[in-house]
Amino acid sequence: MSREVLLATAKAVILEGLVVSPWGNLSMRISKDSFLITPSGVDYNTMQPEDLVEISLAGEIRAGKLKPSSEYHLHLEIYRARDDIKAIVHTHSPYASAFAVTRKPLPALVEDLAQIVGGDVEVSRYAPPGSEILAKNAVLALGKKFAVLLANHGVVGVGRDMEEALRAVRVVEKGAKIALFAKILGGAVLLEPEEIQTMHDFYLNKYGQR
Ligand code: 13P
Ligand code: ZN
Repeated sequence: MSREVLLATAKAVILEGLVVSPWGNLSMRISKDSFLITPSGVDYNTMQPEDLVEISLAGEIRAGKLKPSSEYHLHLEIYRARDDIKAIVHTHSPYASAFAVTRKPLPALVEDLAQIVGGDVEVSRYAPPGSEILAKNAVLALGKKFAVLLANHGVVGVGRDMEEALRAVRVVEKGAKIALFAKILGGAVLLEPEEIQTMHDFYLNKYGQR
């Protein structure tokens, strides 16, 4: 089941223009000490459930015939640092990438972004793609939030399930678009940090059907 969810999310990511396939990558925890990740450089449209690679939290390949995503360190370090996180979506979406290339954090200026991310989307220090240092920098800049920008690269959304990780990259892209248009209109009025925290707490603990 988790393999199908992962593949369906990968397809949504291409359809919504959040990546130019095969870039970007997705993963999902499948046990206390392992996760499934997309293979490197394989088109999401032709990817099969058995193409996914299982990696242990010790960083060893447990199952799968293909080479895992070149960004597996990024996924591994996030799972190591955050017990609450069960899924990760990494995209190269264009509006968010405009912030990533200018290395400017994206302010949490609208409700859904504030709720899900829990604050401004920070830009992690630049490091080469696929490197362990990129992974460590991303974990530092992510903190306890649900999304982070990678300098001159893209976006990482994390979630308590796959739907939430996808929602995170979607709201970051939407927020980046709003921020850019707001600049043309004279600039956004920013939310107070306390207001953002209240919205995030509400989202985490009370929002929706529970
Ligand atoms: P992979 O195809 O190896 O997952 O890499 C794509 C990417 O986004 C690198 O940052
Ligand atoms: Zn990437």
